[in-house]
Amino acid sequence: MRDILIAGNWKMNGGSAGNAELVAEIIAGAPATDRVRLLICPPFPYLAAVAAQLTGSEVLLGAQTVSEHSIGAFTGEISTSMLKDVGCDYVIVGHSERRALYGETSEAVAAKFKAVIESGLAPILCVGETLAEREAGSTEAVIDEQMQAVFDSVGIDGFATAVVAYEPVWAIGTGMTASPEQAQDVHRHIRSSMEAQNKDIAEATLILYGGSVKSDNAAGLFSMPDIDGGLIGGASLKANDFLAIATAAASI
Ligand code: PEP
Repeated sequence: MRDILIAGNWKMNGGSAGNAELVAEIIAGAPATDRVRLLICPPFPYLAAVAAQLTGSEVLLGAQTVSEHSIGAFTGEISTSMLKDVGCDYVIVGHSERRALYGETSEAVAAKFKAVIESGLAPILCVGETLAEREAGSTEAVIDEQMQAVFDSVGIDGFATAVVAYEPVWAIGTGMTASPEQAQDVHRHIRSSMEAQNKDIAEATLILYGGSVKSDNAAGLFSMPDIDGGLIGGASLKANDFLAIATAAASI
């Protein structure tokens, strides 16, 4: 049986005082089960302070993106070694906001994914279709293209430590959650595309669902056989909401 990962993507939200409160509440309220792991991904400037606060707790730390370059003249960029240095465990790559707002192509995302695994950090690869793509019947083709760029770059072995997050773009921040069946169909498709290359890696890889996950829809989603937790945006900014999702996961 795979573990469940509940990952909070804070996006560009937060500030020192509020973060300290939020993190303290998350540490105190984390469900007492090894099967459900919690991960929080604050903005870059707060990673070191949050890492210090997480010391001694089971809550994991991640970043929201990273440079594909390792060092040098890349003004404004952050490298994998810097993220390791401040205590990160995970890095989100290819979030739909990065793809849509900052022009990250599937090849650019694959390069970041490669840099992350080479550093020993674990990538969380986000994939997902827009509403227009779903309505055009091209959901699987879009996911396949996004996955294939990473397969081409690192092969299936590159997924040995990775997490995949299926995030339909139309469900992110909109309140329009995919139904458990809709999400399961895509999760199964993703796992099958991995199974065809390596059954063990496909079986072991956590595939998270993201897109308006809340405490009242979490259990239904996480009960599906190929859904191994969630990538949570809005509901990760309030301890009660985030912990209620974690509690729903622990009840499965
Ligand atoms: C996200 O941005 O990854 C996300 C899933 O956001 P929300 O939970 O707010 O839909």
